[in-house]
Amino acid sequence: SIGRKKYVIANWKMNQNLQETLSFFQKIQDEDGVEVVICPPAPLLLPAHTQIMQEGKKLSLGAQNVHQEEKGAYTGEIAANLVKEFGCQYTLIGHSERRQYFQEDDQTISLKVKRALQEGLTPVVCIGETLEQKHQAQTEKVLTSQILLALEGVNPADVIFAYEPVWAIGTGESASPEEAQKMHHYIRAVLSHIDKKSAEQIAILYGGSVNETNAKEYALMPDIDGVLVGGASLKVDAFQKIITVF
Ligand code: PEP
Repeated sequence: SIGRKKYVIANWKMNQNLQETLSFFQKIQDEDGVEVVICPPAPLLLPAHTQIMQEGKKLSLGAQNVHQEEKGAYTGEIAANLVKEFGCQYTLIGHSERRQYFQEDDQTISLKVKRALQEGLTPVVCIGETLEQKHQAQTEKVLTSQILLALEGVNPADVIFAYEPVWAIGTGESASPEEAQKMHHYIRAVLSHIDKKSAEQIAILYGGSVNETNAKEYALMPDIDGVLVGGASLKVDAFQKIITVF
């Protein structure tokens, strides 16, 4: 990760209420040399933003998802320009739960990446193979096609990638640091074919059952530039420990 920016990103999913959010931002401390991004549920973005400003902390916010259209008749959906207005600099795109439960395909994800960039948000594009794809030795093929489609028509240097093997998310069964490093190296090689210079600068984060105990091992890997944390990001003490190792 030499020379590249480091990230620790929290994905709260559909968890945390207003009181828990305010108390989290009171307790959490920023850290030099690492960009800390919290992705709370959308209705908590504005109170979180206000709280961060009050505390004067160097913390960033991300949305968990945005819609691909600018605005219009899309009941229940979230506009990218609105989350930007509410203090977000980032948005997750194509999290495996969005792909799995909300039928997001690579085509939709490609449109969402473009929308995010148009509205001035940095997309954190989540890619990763399912257990079935892993068993069928399709991991590299799946990752390649996810990367190529996500980057269609965009400058790769504007995007962050999160490698999240689906079988490792919320399961407690993380990819070993060596296994993750191998895939990150592969992802960077694919990026290098698109744009050699950008590939060295693009942050690639690992996600999948990262916790305060195993985080340090990922931090030591040369192609792992940070982590995307689900479960362990809900407890401020655990999340703070993860920040500290990057
Ligand atoms: C995630 O949701 O992106 C994630 C990695 O979850 P967990 O850390 O709980 O596996």
